[in-house]
Amino acid sequence: LSQKLSQAMKALRGETRLTEANLEAVLREVRMALLEADVHVAVARTFLQRVKEKALGAEVMQGLNPAQAFIDIVHRELVEIMGGEAPEHPLAFAPKPPTVVMMVGLQGAGKTTTCGKLAVFLKKLGRSPLLVPADVYRPAAIEQLHVVAKDAGVPSFRTDEKDPVRICEAALTEAKLKGWDTVILDTAGRLHLDEALMEELVSIKAAVPPDEILFVADAMTGQDAVRSATAFHGKLGTTGVVLTKTDGDTRGGAAFSIKQATGTPLKFVGEGEKLEDFQRFHPDRMAQRILGMGDVLSLIEHAKDKLDEKETEAMAQRLAKNQFTLEDMRKQFQQVKKLGSMNKILGMLPGMGQMKEQIAQVATDKRLSHMEAILNSMTPKERANHNLLDAKRKRRIAAGSGRPVSEINQLLKQYVEARKMMGQMNDPKFMNRMQRMAG
Ligand code: GDP
Ligand code: MG
Repeated sequence: LSQKLSQAMKALRGETRLTEANLEAVLREVRMALLEADVHVAVARTFLQRVKEKALGAEVMQGLNPAQAFIDIVHRELVEIMGGEAPEHPLAFAPKPPTVVMMVGLQGAGKTTTCGKLAVFLKKLGRSPLLVPADVYRPAAIEQLHVVAKDAGVPSFRTDEKDPVRICEAALTEAKLKGWDTVILDTAGRLHLDEALMEELVSIKAAVPPDEILFVADAMTGQDAVRSATAFHGKLGTTGVVLTKTDGDTRGGAAFSIKQATGTPLKFVGEGEKLEDFQRFHPDRMAQRILGMGDVLSLIEHAKDKLDEKETEAMAQRLAKNQFTLEDMRKQFQQVKKLGSMNKILGMLPGMGQMKEQIAQVATDKRLSHMEAILNSMTPKERANHNLLDAKRKRRIAAGSGRPVSEINQLLKQYVEARKMMGQMNDPKFMNRMQRMAG
């Protein structure tokens, strides 16, 4: 999605306001991008309508250009559509224990695995869960849950009972007796939606009744997951969704649509096969993933506070003329230091992954201050013209900065390379973009 979106953003560059006319093209491209991320057509339409209304009415925040303002709106709407801020408690715990959580969903979605993951999660909250195998059609399924419970370090309910409703009732009685405060029911699934299965789940629901009915959805099945989420919700009144296998789905379309389609919140995400690969759902993180943009907005806010605007501009102009001096390099280091650690900054920039690794090698914060010490020990003349730096001057600088001459040579080599690279990037459009990003 990120590539599509940045294409769309180009259309907004150079515009000074968000208008019906200039939004048309960019909205069309965002729509395409959403569909590509496997977001349902109707959901995408509603979403874009909302974005459009907000964008047209929006005052462009000072310091943001229209493209950034637009991204900001898209981001906020994405978060909103996926459930807004997470509630304080991950589950509706019963005032009087035990709390009953029922897992439902298609076969292979990850119900049994999720029972174990949730148990580990709840244990960390100081709760004592009991896992209950109510998938009676496959003997292996019951054994699987016992194994999962053992791995999670929680008890599982054992019984000779063969009827799923009676198993659940008996487990509840045992939980009350033994003081297990959360009962997690692992129910059967089918490869396809079917009446008999639904009726069985309805009976369990009536007999127990659960405080939470979580629909377990396989993210990799995309729109199919959305369809079955809707069907299960219609029949059972599910209270939330667990999205599994998000480690295998980079598109995020299911997350986007499920809340819309069922009106129930996404509560947890599974991110791998292991019991620890599990966490509460954060709309914010998923929105970023869908946008594929890194934390652009927080970078902008960050930069606006801290960067000296005039300095940046002057530097950009010198860069554009390929007059990048050691003095500029020193100023750059100072700015970077003002902004916080280099890695953090680069992590916030989209598409900087590779560059980040390269730079991380040479520019840990400690190295940064060494380099700054060297630059500080030079005279302004030397910083303006690195060709002055002969062996004698280097020895003086080494003594002044407390760094070896070899390090000074290394810095000069890097400077020359950076200069060369900037020559290649000597493109006013590129600098404009960087400048705008910096606010
Ligand atoms: P159930 O039939 O709904 O109970 O599904 P299972 O819990 O047996 O899971 C089916 C398969 O999906 C198993 O191989 C699990 O290891 C795998 N699985 C479950 N959750 C995740 C997840 O979040 N990520 C990955 N990669 N695999 C998962
Ligand atoms: Mg199972």
